[in-house]
Amino acid sequence: MDLTAAQQVLKTTFGYDDFRPGQRSVIEHVLSGDNTLAIMPTGGGKSLCYQIPALLFDGITVVVSPLISLMKDQVDALNDSGIPATYINSSLEWPEIQDRLAALHQGVYKLLYVAPERLDSEAFVHALGQLPIDLLAVDEAHCISQWGHDFRPSYLELSTAIEQLPTHPRVLALTATATQQVARDIRDRLQIPADDEVNTGFARDNLNLTVVKDQDTDRYVLDYLKVNAEAAGIIYASTRKEVNRLTELLTKHHINAAPYHAGLPDEQRRQNQEDFLYDRVQVMVATNAFGMGIDKSNVRFVIHAQVPGTLEAYYQEAGRAGRDGLPSEAILLYRSQDLQIQHFFIDQSEMDEAHKQHAYQKLQVMNQYANTQGCLQQFILNYFGEQSEPCGRCSNCRDDREAQDVTTDVQKVLSCVVRLRARYGKGIVAQVLTGAHNKRVLDQQLDQLPTYGIMRNQRQKSVGELIDFLTAAGYLQSVGGQYPTLQVTALGVTVLKGEQQVFRKMARQAQRLAPEDD
Ligand code: ADP
Ligand code: ZN
Repeated sequence: MDLTAAQQVLKTTFGYDDFRPGQRSVIEHVLSGDNTLAIMPTGGGKSLCYQIPALLFDGITVVVSPLISLMKDQVDALNDSGIPATYINSSLEWPEIQDRLAALHQGVYKLLYVAPERLDSEAFVHALGQLPIDLLAVDEAHCISQWGHDFRPSYLELSTAIEQLPTHPRVLALTATATQQVARDIRDRLQIPADDEVNTGFARDNLNLTVVKDQDTDRYVLDYLKVNAEAAGIIYASTRKEVNRLTELLTKHHINAAPYHAGLPDEQRRQNQEDFLYDRVQVMVATNAFGMGIDKSNVRFVIHAQVPGTLEAYYQEAGRAGRDGLPSEAILLYRSQDLQIQHFFIDQSEMDEAHKQHAYQKLQVMNQYANTQGCLQQFILNYFGEQSEPCGRCSNCRDDREAQDVTTDVQKVLSCVVRLRARYGKGIVAQVLTGAHNKRVLDQQLDQLPTYGIMRNQRQKSVGELIDFLTAAGYLQSVGGQYPTLQVTALGVTVLKGEQQVFRKMARQAQRLAPEDD
């Protein structure tokens, strides 16, 4: 297909010489009339994939986007570059909506942004049906999947709405975060053939991934900002309370920070967001309410002060660093007790039982990410179904501590799990191994087991960490949702049989036990 026209629009309207990876292929599919799924990392340039075709088509391109609060800004930005665009969402009164629809009829606009909730209204869908729509772009398409991490019921109305459009527009679904299961779900719901999926991969070569375990959050953040005093960044926390607390802490230390969470008045949120976008505020401290659709290119770091609930959410939030392609950092501060907060969110949620179990499992994957000693990037890509080599940049790839042979300890843990017949989780296993005397252990006569107390000389917490390590490394697996139980895997069995040794990099403290002055 000849893409000369598209190339020209890229240059004249947007001022870019070359397509980014994937853009050409997606645009080619769209211009050929195919329903298409585009999976590109955050900052990969998804918007141009529908904006360029929109300018080449005679009719209208409808963009479905969940980012109501940003729609006006997005549309203003397009208008500034001379692209006629408008939006319709719940912030507008009905007469205004009618005016805009009338203008669309007259061919005034090439692009129309709509919130997915609009599609719940039959009257609105009917009005859309009167327009010459050539392309329907579905942004943040993972919201259509109940297996994604940000399911929005309104997205389910999309397929019905599409059927009611007499012009049968082609569909372009776009997302930066889709496991293979979610991608399949998007394709099924929007009738996109598997051949029409363009996936540029999830790797972000300019993003350095780091996991920091068991350190004091306040100290870490303050030290980090002392060294990176000029850098713009986002600090994510799980609760509004923690966001407020961290903002106060930073402000007290004369760091220019502002909070963002759903509990703040709209006006203040808008103001803080704008201050951050225009570099008047250095650090945005935020819950996950912040960030989707924010196009701030010079974010140098994203620190998660608390562990998020899923690896998808983590990678999407972390990916907001370095959209300009320059080296940037994504740091996860991990403490196992923070997992409890996420656990609580799932407990309290209104999901049905199956989805709760699924959410607990996702949380376990997040926990494994924090505890793996393998390459962090590889872990993430693997989760999204992509093979890769170790990145050489992440904190695990750069970890030059000597790995120690921990085979004996591992055999103790694994044999205890076997003795417990895979009926118990991490807590009990660690208690039995360290010889705890609590009621649950004694009531169930677990103190009678031969493995009871065989790691008495270690703290329960460090045995728990060894279990996390073994789970992340695939020697153990954690089965079930809310109260997962541990099982030994086939790989673990080889260790029990003495066919394989296990090496682990240990915390510095433990290493200091070795003689220091020889
Ligand atoms: P995404 O939606 O995939 O996260 P955007 O569409 O917001 O990413 O694009 C991210 C940034 O990259 C924007 O500032 C955009 O202008 C820029 N960009 C997009 N395509 C190109 C290109 N071909 N060449 C240079 N910059 C581009
Ligand atoms: Zn790595």
